[in-house]
Amino acid sequence: MTMTTEPILKVENLTIDVPMAQGTLHAVRGIDFELRRGETLCIVGESGSGKSLTSLALMGLLPKKMRCKAARLDFSGVDLQRQTPKAMRALRGDRMAMIFQEPMTSLNPAYTIGDQLMEALLLHRPVSKAEARERAVELLGKVGITAAESRLGQYPHQLSGGLRQRVMIAMALMCEPELIIADEPTTALDVTIQAQILRLLADLQREMNMAMILVTHDLGVVARIADKVVVMYAGEVVENGSAREIFENPRHPYTQGLLRCIPVPGKTKPGEHLGSIPGIVPSLIGKVEGCAFRSRCELAEDACSSSVPVRRPGADHAYRCIHDVPGGAPA
Ligand code: ADP
Ligand code: MG
Repeated sequence: MTMTTEPILKVENLTIDVPMAQGTLHAVRGIDFELRRGETLCIVGESGSGKSLTSLALMGLLPKKMRCKAARLDFSGVDLQRQTPKAMRALRGDRMAMIFQEPMTSLNPAYTIGDQLMEALLLHRPVSKAEARERAVELLGKVGITAAESRLGQYPHQLSGGLRQRVMIAMALMCEPELIIADEPTTALDVTIQAQILRLLADLQREMNMAMILVTHDLGVVARIADKVVVMYAGEVVENGSAREIFENPRHPYTQGLLRCIPVPGKTKPGEHLGSIPGIVPSLIGKVEGCAFRSRCELAEDACSSSVPVRRPGADHAYRCIHDVPGGAPA
C-alpha cells in the first residue's frame, strides 16, 4: 500500500446521538479516522461500543431517529453529509458496499441468487442482462463457490450459512467498490468457516485494491490482516494506530486488557469470549464525562472523571488517557 496517496475516507469528529425515552444516548462520541485505498482498517471493541452505528453512518443507513453529525465525512471527494438519499443509494453497492453479520437480512428470500447478484450490477451499470449474468458467475467463482452457473437459480434458503455469506460478499463486490465495510461478517458462522471467509475477504481486498473496514472481535484476524486498528470503547476511540503499533506497543489500559485476552492456540477453548475485563460499561444516556473506562481501569484515579487528553506516542499512534502509559505488550 502507498501511504502517500490521499485518504479515500476521512472521518472527523463523528457523533451519533440516539433519542431514547430516558434521554439522549450518546452512542458515538467524536471519533476520527482515515483510510487509504488498499488499506484495511479493523475496528475492535466490545459489544455496544458503537462499531455498527459508525459503519451504518458511513453508508447513510442509520435509522432516521438517530442524529449524526461530523466535522468531516468525506468519501473519495464526496461530502457524505450533503448527499440526498437518492445520491446515497447511488453510491451504495456501487462505490461503497457493506457486508452485514447476518446475510438473511440482506438477501431477499423471494429471489434467486442469480437475480440478486445481477440486480446489484444492473442497478448501477449500463450492462446487458447477459453481461450481468457473466459477472455474477465470475464473482461466485471468486468467492470460492463451485458450479457457480448452477447456483444462480437457487434461493437463499437453499444455501448453507457459509455459502450465503460468500454470496453476500460476491454481491458487495459486483461493482468493484472502492470501499467495503464488513461488520462482523462471520459471527453467525462456525469457527472454521469464519477463518475461511475472512481469509477470502482479505485476499479479495488486496486483489481489488479496495479500502476495507472490518469490524471484528477476533484479534487474531486483526493481527493478520489489519494495516490500521481503531479501538472503540463506549462510543469513543480510545486508541488507534498502525496495527504494528497497537500490537507491539499498546498504551490504553483497555487495549492492553483486550490483548491480554488474545486466544492462544491449544489453550483457548472455542467460543471463549475475548475482552473479558471485569466490570460494566457506564450508561451513555445524558451527560457523559471523563474517561468511560475508568470504572474498570486499574490505573483510575479522581482526575479520570474530568476531560481526558489525547496522547501521541508516535506519528501513527494516539490514545486517550490522563496517564502516560508505558507501552509494550502486556504480560
Ligand atoms: P456495536 O456494534 O459496537 O456492538 P452499536 O453500534 O450497535 O454497537 O451500538 C452502540 C450503542 O447504540 C449501544 O448502546 C446500542 O444499544 C445503541 N443502539 C444501537 N442501535 C440502536 C437502536 N436502533 N435504537 C436504540 N439504541 C441503539
Ligand atoms: Mg455491532
